[in-house]
Amino acid sequence: MEPLVAAAGRGDIRAVARVISLIEDTDPRVPDVMASLPAPNKNPYVIGLTGSPGVGKSTATSALIAHWRSAGARVAVLAVDPSSPFTGGALLGDRVRMQTHATDAGVYIRSMATRGNLGGLAAATPQAVHVLESAGFDVVLVETVGVGQAEVDVAATADTTVVLLAPGMGDGVQAAKAGVLEIADILVVNKADRDGADDTVRELRRMISTVAHEAGAWRPPVVRTVATSEGGIAELVEAIDKHKAWLSASGENEKRRMKRTAHEIRSLALAMLAAKLGLRQSDARIEALATAVVKGELDVYSAARQIVLT
Ligand code: GDP
Repeated sequence: MEPLVAAAGRGDIRAVARVISLIEDTDPRVPDVMASLPAPNKNPYVIGLTGSPGVGKSTATSALIAHWRSAGARVAVLAVDPSSPFTGGALLGDRVRMQTHATDAGVYIRSMATRGNLGGLAAATPQAVHVLESAGFDVVLVETVGVGQAEVDVAATADTTVVLLAPGMGDGVQAAKAGVLEIADILVVNKADRDGADDTVRELRRMISTVAHEAGAWRPPVVRTVATSEGGIAELVEAIDKHKAWLSASGENEKRRMKRTAHEIRSLALAMLAAKLGLRQSDARIEALATAVVKGELDVYSAARQIVLT
């Protein structure tokens, strides 16, 4: 493992890819590998990007990569799709990869999946981010699809969480319902070239204004983008930079690092427990127990107890 770890630490892309595969596979050597990774000589900036399918995440990612590359930064993208543990975010990652950055050595795009291990993705994502940090990337973008726990996990991994919405998708309302507003450091109304963009911006600003903010607290800005033509991308990067500056000026950086580390420990512990119990996302034992419950032969508590106590 030593040459592999050393190569990953030098930023060797193939070594980085292998280490992330070990993490996905929850290989027993991972704890040692992680412990021997060299500490990053600079702290890369971790940005979470999330939103419903079709809202423009991969287009925006591509535009952001172009922007950061022109500033000379090395960029890594982790595309995480928790909705499909087996195919993972392959489509998302591949879509970006196939666009303009395929041959650029300063860009690494990777889809993350876990092999059906319960809680695996929440535990694996921060580990993969550490590998990319160690490999010397300047920016790590973690992209997720879907609404729910995944966003919360991304927010827990990122310095700055960007939530992408589009006009006319009822997304404003969806966002509020799903509590996405609570995790967004920056809200983006993409497809601002479409009708209804002004209404969505107005609605989001109204929603933000109803949330009580303490003095000096960060108020999420609403940025308009047209990702297809890179419109508003410079403004989005500016908002990200402002948030970054606020994080360090307010001392929130340290608080977030603590919270993030606690979340990471919790995710790892839960994943370890699930592994110990042999719990998987798709689990024949649980299906058999469910059949028994549905038939009225068993209650759900007794079923769960059978998993945990036997
Ligand atoms: P994702 O599923 O969130 O990654 O969304 P994609 O980036 O694949 O975009 C979905 C569709 O919306 C694609 O056809 C894009 O070309 C289109 N799209 C993305 N951004 C914009 C935009 O700003 N304006 C318009 N009109 N279309 C966009």
